[in-house]
Amino acid sequence: MPTNIGNGRERCSDTIYLDSLAQARNLPEPVLQSTIQDTRKALQRRAFRKKYSVPLHVNLAELRNEREQYYRNGIYCAERIEQGVDGRLRTHYCNGRLCPICQAIRTAKGINKYLPAIQSFADPYFLTLTRRTVQGEHLRPTIRQMKGEFSLINDLARKNGKVHGLRKLEVIYNGETGLYHPHFHMILDGEEVASFVLKEWLKRNRFSAHRDAQELQAIEPGDSTGIRKLFGYITKLVTEVEEEKIPVPSEALDVIVAALFNSRTLQPYGSLIQAARDTEKIKATDVEAYETPYGFTIGKWILWEWEQRLATWVDKQTGALLVEPPTEKIRVKNNRF
Ligand SMILES: [Zn+2]
Repeated sequence: MPTNIGNGRERCSDTIYLDSLAQARNLPEPVLQSTIQDTRKALQRRAFRKKYSVPLHVNLAELRNEREQYYRNGIYCAERIEQGVDGRLRTHYCNGRLCPICQAIRTAKGINKYLPAIQSFADPYFLTLTRRTVQGEHLRPTIRQMKGEFSLINDLARKNGKVHGLRKLEVIYNGETGLYHPHFHMILDGEEVASFVLKEWLKRNRFSAHRDAQELQAIEPGDSTGIRKLFGYITKLVTEVEEEKIPVPSEALDVIVAALFNSRTLQPYGSLIQAARDTEKIKATDVEAYETPYGFTIGKWILWEWEQRLATWVDKQTGALLVEPPTEKIRVKNNRF
């Protein structure tokens, strides 16, 4: 998880806390300080995401359909952060598809689990497979059909040797047309297999897929930008209408969530299957690692509660803030959150 021992070397004002924690953990003080600094930054990014996530999920819940409770869970994701006497922070996550907090954790986990395996590919290729855009009511059956076609192609490709790769499903909403664009991004090992998959895809989608809309390119050694794309959102939360960026309407996001309900969006093949376990599901142990160790005072139990107005978590007993509210300077990877 992203608890990289970074460059942060700012001194924490509470040296008593640091001393006792350092002794307890046998960590050199500079290492401990930078860990705390990293956690502070992670919490600020989380506050930024939470501030954005609350109205997003409130609007979705207000659609008042059968997914209302699912969206309400999103509103309360990481709502309360419990600081234990050991200085560790714990919270509950909604694991929602559109939740920016949970997505950030999934992205970090995906990169950690798959990136080393992908980087060991001898000849990695990036492939995008698309079809014509569809209306909302046709989205789920279209996705099912695309997955079926892909698995037939995969079976054929395997006759010529094992297929190693990762396939990610994404759905983009077009605000101008009101249509949905489901497509696969994937990374495959070997030009031959990637070209074969593309050729078969075009053959099977003669009337709904054009060659120009597909993308096939070699991944340059050391280039992880394309690879990282695979671990981002299942959809974009903004769309363009008359050259102006606007948020995707809640109704359209709901169509995408409904279409992807109980459907896998990240599918590993070959050698990546071993690296796959638990990638989509978030476990408490992972998220604890994400946030620990941190705390202003050791030996004190504190319940930090989210305050949307302040955009941070507050100790209601003392009015103290867990972290300073995020500023516009807090930029999150990919400019997404
Ligand atoms: Zn969440």
